[in-house]
Amino acid sequence: MTLLERARRRGAHLAHARVEAVEVRDSRVSAVQLNAGRVVTGGFVNAAGPFLRQVGRMVGVDLPVFSERHLKVAFEDHLGIIPRDAPLLICADPQTISWTDDERAVLADDPEAQPLLGILPAGAHCRPEGGTGSAWVIALWAYDTAPVEEIFPLPSAPYFFDVTLRGLTRIIPALEAYIYRPPCPTIDGGYYTKTRENRPLIGPTGPRGSFVMGAFSGYGIMAACGAADILAAHISGEALPAWAAAFHPARYEDPAYCAMIDAWSDTAQL
Ligand SMILES: Cc1cc2nc3c(=O)[nH]c(=O)nc-3n(C[C@H](O)[C@H](O)[C@H](O)COP(=O)(O)OP(=O)(O)OC[C@H]3O[C@@H](n4cnc5c(N)ncnc54)[C@H](O)[C@@H]3O)c2cc1C
Repeated sequence: MTLLERARRRGAHLAHARVEAVEVRDSRVSAVQLNAGRVVTGGFVNAAGPFLRQVGRMVGVDLPVFSERHLKVAFEDHLGIIPRDAPLLICADPQTISWTDDERAVLADDPEAQPLLGILPAGAHCRPEGGTGSAWVIALWAYDTAPVEEIFPLPSAPYFFDVTLRGLTRIIPALEAYIYRPPCPTIDGGYYTKTRENRPLIGPTGPRGSFVMGAFSGYGIMAACGAADILAAHISGEALPAWAAAFHPARYEDPAYCAMIDAWSDTAQL
C-alpha cells in the first residue's frame, strides 16, 4: 500500500481491468485494450505472473517461461505437536513414504498418484502460523514440480495434505498422530512461473515501448523492489546496474548463453 500510495501521489492511476490486446503501430506500442476501455499509451509492461506467456503473445513474443504448481496447507495442530516458537523446519533428505500395502494398491491404481510410491524429493517444510493463541501450522512440499498449465481456481489436490504430513513425520515423528485422524486442512497456493535457469525476465521485449517483468518463481515478493528499480531504469533510460544484464529477456536470443544454461545440471529452486 505504501508503494501504491506513493505512486498515486506521483500521478499513477490504478485501473482494475483485464488486458485483452495491445495495439502496435509502426513497431511501437500505441494503445492497450482493456475489458473496460482503451488506454492510449506508448508504454506497456507485461507483469502478468502466471499469465506472462499469454500476455506476451499480445505483443507478438513467445516468452521462455513455464509454470509449476506449488501448494501449501494450513491445519490446526490441536495436539500441540509443533512448539509455537519453532523455526521453519525443513526435511533436507529425499524420502520414500511408508505406505501400507492397502494404500500402495490404491495409489498404484491411479496413474496420477503412482509417482507417490517412488522416491520423493527433499524439501517438506512447515512452521507455526499466527500469533499468541494460534494453533495453526503451515506446511509445504513441492514433491511434484512438473510443468503444468496455469488454471485458476487451482485443480483439487486430493493427496497433498496426506503426503506432506507423512513427509514431515520424517523430521517430526509425533505428526504420525494425525495420519489417520487428520485435522481439517485448508489448501491453497499458486504457480511458480519461471525460466529454465530460474532467473526473472526484466526489460524490453517485442515492439518498442513494450517491457516484461516476471518469471519470479518462488521469490517474487523478496525480489520485487530490486526488480522494479531496474524495470524503471529500462523504461526511463537511466543507467542500469551491471547485474541487470543477467535478467534481460534478450539473453535467450544468445545461443552461447542458451548453450551455457543447457549445461547446468541444477538451476536450484528458490
Ligand atoms: C505457495 C507459494 C509460496 C510462495 N512463497 C513466497 C515467499 O515466501 N517469498 C517470495 O518472495 N515469494 C513467494 N512466492 C512467489 C511469489 O508469490 C511470486 O513470485 C510473485 O507473486 C510473482 O509476482 P508477479 O507480480 O510477477 O505475479 P503475480 O503476483 O501473480 O501478479 C500478476 C498479476 O497480473 C494479473 N493479470 C494476469 N493477466 C492479466 C491480464 N490479462 N490483465 C490484467 N491483469 C492480469 C493477475 O491478476 C495478477 O494480479 C510464493 C509462491 C507460491 C505459489
